[in-house]
Amino acid sequence: MKDLRLAGRKAERSTIEVNGVTIGGKEIILIGGPCAVESSLQMSRSAETVKKAGGKILRGGVFKPRTSPYSFQGLGLEGLNYLVHAAKDQGLLCVTEVIDALSLDLVINEVDIIQIGARNMQNFELLKLVGRINKPIILKRGLSATVEEWLLAAEYILSTGNSQVILCERGIRTYEPSTRNTLDLSAVGVAKELSHLPVIVDPSHAAGRRDLISSLSKASIAAGADGLLIETHPNPAEATSDGSQSLTPEQFIQLGEELGAVADSVQRIFPSMGQEHTIESLRNQIDSIDQKILEKLADRMQIVQRLGDQKRLDQVKVASRQKEIIHRLTNLATELQLPAELVKKIYALIFEYGIQSQIKSKIAQEKPLELSLGSK
Ligand code: PEP
Ligand code: MN
Repeated sequence: MKDLRLAGRKAERSTIEVNGVTIGGKEIILIGGPCAVESSLQMSRSAETVKKAGGKILRGGVFKPRTSPYSFQGLGLEGLNYLVHAAKDQGLLCVTEVIDALSLDLVINEVDIIQIGARNMQNFELLKLVGRINKPIILKRGLSATVEEWLLAAEYILSTGNSQVILCERGIRTYEPSTRNTLDLSAVGVAKELSHLPVIVDPSHAAGRRDLISSLSKASIAAGADGLLIETHPNPAEATSDGSQSLTPEQFIQLGEELGAVADSVQRIFPSMGQEHTIESLRNQIDSIDQKILEKLADRMQIVQRLGDQKRLDQVKVASRQKEIIHRLTNLATELQLPAELVKKIYALIFEYGIQSQIKSKIAQEKPLELSLGSK
């Protein structure tokens, strides 16, 4: 697919970091909440449920693109307030859908993530608008969109300048009437093969019925999804929209408890209550932390190299700067209850390697100069 210039596969998968949450890493990210924001109490109860289940992000629609113009269209700004406060009270991030420039303007500074709904997947002007902002975008797959069309929609956002796109499979329209849509789980694998972007699954809009959500969620993780977006409502029977597909709080929490084991089985992590402490899960958590440590170390080394490019050879080693760093880090280590000795030993090696690599590249830079001077 030649036009997937930015969305197309890369050597490394992309992860999206948003206010302390990483999407596309080893951890499965659970997003939950009602279809539509209805009241302050509904949102605070939903946030409690999401938190208890191990979720990280609260969802809730305040601008609803409904199939019928007579259906509830959302509470707008009033609803946004309920969503944002409920999330904050539970230490969750929040996401809501935008439908046009005005709704984007109203939510942009309030929420952590913006959602583009299935019905707007090919609203190219809207895609370009969210391409100009600096917030992650959850891009739902259109009701009848091919994976290629979905990835090209992502390409619109990326090519306008926003690199933080999360793809969301939410079921497509087929001839099968027993579910609202058909969850296309193969699309998770296909999208991950064709693109470096994280992929999450919304089983709620796919199934349209709550009895299938638990098994489809687990299947999604097994199929490689990086996260789940699931509707839950404190009282689904009274929901203004999508009640029949919304999990009760008890069901949502129960699902959270079961996801850890499924995540473990495919070398991922989900922080289920009571699950965090199995040997398998602890090892997975260590692997994930080790990867982050190495990635950060690689970033540090690159900066050291760039710094080296600006120094003369006799400026490479600055003892006072090393002392100052060690002083600061050993204080921090004590605060974090880490042995200061450990930090000193690790940093002695890091400094040593950094200096060596700066010296090596200085010598390499100066050689051609000496050669050319010598030949004159
Ligand atoms: C939603 O998430 O509430 C929603 C409307 O989803 P979709 O755009 O996938 O139908
Ligand atoms: Mn919905």
